[in-house]
Amino acid sequence: MFSWVSKDARRKKEPELFQTVAEGLRQLYSQKLLPLEEHYRFHEFHSPALEDADFDNKPMVLLVGQYSTGKTTFIRHLIEQDFPGMRIGPEPTTDSFIAVMHGPTEGVVPVSSGSCSRRFMCAQLPNPVLDSISIIDTPGILSGEKQRISRGYDFAAVLEWFAERVDRIILLFDAHKLDISDEFSEVIKALKNHEDKIRVVLNKADQIETQQLMRVYGALMWSLGKIINTPEVVRVYIGSFWSHPLLIPDNRKLFEAEEQDLFKDIQSLPRNAALRKLNDLIKRARLAKVHAYIISSLKKEMPNVFGKESKKKELVNNLGEIYAKIEREHQISPGDFPSLRKMQELLQTQDFTKFQALKPKLLDTVDDMLANDIARLMVMVRQEESQMPSQVVKGGAFEGTMNGPFGHGYGEGAGEGIDDIEWVVGKDKPTYDEIFYTLSPVNGKITGANAKKEMVKSKLPNTVLGKIWKLADVDKDGLLDDEEFALANHLIKVKLEGHELPTDLPPHLIPPSKRRLE
Ligand code: MG
Ligand code: CA
Repeated sequence: MFSWVSKDARRKKEPELFQTVAEGLRQLYSQKLLPLEEHYRFHEFHSPALEDADFDNKPMVLLVGQYSTGKTTFIRHLIEQDFPGMRIGPEPTTDSFIAVMHGPTEGVVPVSSGSCSRRFMCAQLPNPVLDSISIIDTPGILSGEKQRISRGYDFAAVLEWFAERVDRIILLFDAHKLDISDEFSEVIKALKNHEDKIRVVLNKADQIETQQLMRVYGALMWSLGKIINTPEVVRVYIGSFWSHPLLIPDNRKLFEAEEQDLFKDIQSLPRNAALRKLNDLIKRARLAKVHAYIISSLKKEMPNVFGKESKKKELVNNLGEIYAKIEREHQISPGDFPSLRKMQELLQTQDFTKFQALKPKLLDTVDDMLANDIARLMVMVRQEESQMPSQVVKGGAFEGTMNGPFGHGYGEGAGEGIDDIEWVVGKDKPTYDEIFYTLSPVNGKITGANAKKEMVKSKLPNTVLGKIWKLADVDKDGLLDDEEFALANHLIKVKLEGHELPTDLPPHLIPPSKRRLE
């Protein structure tokens, strides 16, 4: 695939001529970084070669957590629908990595490439949220050695592979039973190069009283401090990330603010995707350089004829000294080195005699990329960002916080239907009317603020109430008349009974007086 002819042909292009940042990154990678990676077998040690898809993918959100912390439920909450292959329950239910992505029809597609393919599925479905982002569900983490053995694959390594490619990593914790297993802390440690992508969610926070919640929050920060270098900068969002009524509604305001912040963070991902890819290429280039120094140092120490095996053993045991020497000679910060223990393990199976000596030209090319090409691409990143200031994730739960008195701004939508179908809300309307007239209607209508006061009594979260508001304010005047208020209450009842809300009002729900709206 990488013949010399095609490489030379591609080299002639100057980075400034790239049409997009993604294209620039792809070219830089294949022309300047990949040759270094291949020469020193980077792919066998750290990460497979990047493919075209890695540069073109939609922004991705990775959910990680112990079992039953609400990962799958969180995805369901965001997209407001079930996805193929989805299983939810108190026991560990998700046993594969599932990439939830946009597709024209619903279905599950097994992923054919990669070593973890058996455990990796792609759930496709048409959904407005997935127009802008993809979300990856992962198997829940259990505690103990047994779990690691029964999996039959290196869970942390697979997560690391994903972490390198995603834009956000959301770590979920259950406030109701906070517990961080050894394997989970191993996993978090394996994500150390991607701390900038990590957000923490303290989920199910409505299940406990305020005092206990504060204690749990403190305990979480303390535990994270032992795993993450800078826990104070990792943002923790406290809330109840599903569309059910809050069990204890005391902290409703806090949960709402937290959810809005988290949603804003997720919504900004498309805009920041190019910068993320650029940062990841820089990280990768730095690791590839260090790796080249390590491998070439080992090569230098190997004898030509006798005693190869014993020398190899000695070198692996003394790898720490080799690290220190490279650190000094090339002024590399210790944080740029791969984990010593992991590297020692990987080196066991390698044939040191096949290692390559230091080839300065390959390293110079990567240095030139880091010093010059990346700076030029950064200018392009800023240009691309400014060209799409309003590109945010829309649809699903995001809609509820963007509309009406339950969020910012105001939404539009269709509310039409002409028919003489019976209005199913009609029979309960007298009951709702009684409440309606206690809410100070003016000219037959109540304000959003007054409606909100009543609607929050359902304890349903704002994502849901915002959506109900959007459906119920049929004429979009920001007020509810008696029919619209009855409809809002009917939709609340529907939701509390465990049914899903419609995306658009079906004819039998549209109030008769609104059926002829143009
Ligand atoms: Mg799950
Ligand atoms: Ca209205």
